[in-house]
Amino acid sequence: MLYLPYMLKYLINLLYPALCQACGKKSESPEENICKDCLKKIKKRLPPFCTKCGKQLRGDPELQLECSDCKNDEIYFDRAFSVCYYSGTLKDLIHNFKYKKISSLIKEFSDLTLGFIRQYDICKDIDLVLPVPMHRRRLIKREINTSHVMARDAAKRLGIRYDPGILKKHKYTPPQSSLKRHDRIKNIRGSFCIKKAKAPALYNKNILIIDDLFTTGSTVNECARILKEAGCGNIDVITLARGDSAR
Ligand SMILES: [Zn+2]
Ligand SMILES: [Zn+2]
Repeated sequence: MLYLPYMLKYLINLLYPALCQACGKKSESPEENICKDCLKKIKKRLPPFCTKCGKQLRGDPELQLECSDCKNDEIYFDRAFSVCYYSGTLKDLIHNFKYKKISSLIKEFSDLTLGFIRQYDICKDIDLVLPVPMHRRRLIKREINTSHVMARDAAKRLGIRYDPGILKKHKYTPPQSSLKRHDRIKNIRGSFCIKKAKAPALYNKNILIIDDLFTTGSTVNECARILKEAGCGNIDVITLARGDSAR
């Protein structure tokens, strides 16, 4: 009896084969949203990374340096990492996830993120996983908060507590994508808050924030700023993609 749902899935897949969400070819299994060839095309980032924001650096993979952005800006998170380059196949897939609501892609997105965490043995001793919240007005328009879906799935697979009700975006701000670095920092400042009832439980807690994309990091940095103000311990950030250039 246990085999029935499994067999049923395969029979359905024979009649109505699942298609690769990147190239449209038939998938080998109903669980596969991206075919093996397209998965290979997703470019993973390789060290050296900035020891603070995770920006791509050049040189020896063992290099331990902070980038110039981190030296000039006030950074509140402890470490940020990005798994892949925001280009080609992955850029299209993130777009499809967000705007075409192909939420099944969460499996591959989590596989990539968790694979990176394990490969580099990072984001350890985490007490709590948080998403970057979206303002209610934007959520109604978009219908999906990619960060929420990614953080919830990764937390479940990591076996760590997830709470989407701690951080709140209480101030509506223009999209960060339309702004330059300095304006992004100004735009986002003071736009998040922490739910009062949840604040005491945050003391000394190590947090992992999960998001889809890291551009300048000003959004996660603002989340980290108020979490540190509330007494949180270590704050790590991991994003699926980052738009810096390949080595
Ligand atoms: Zn494909
Ligand atoms: Zn940096």
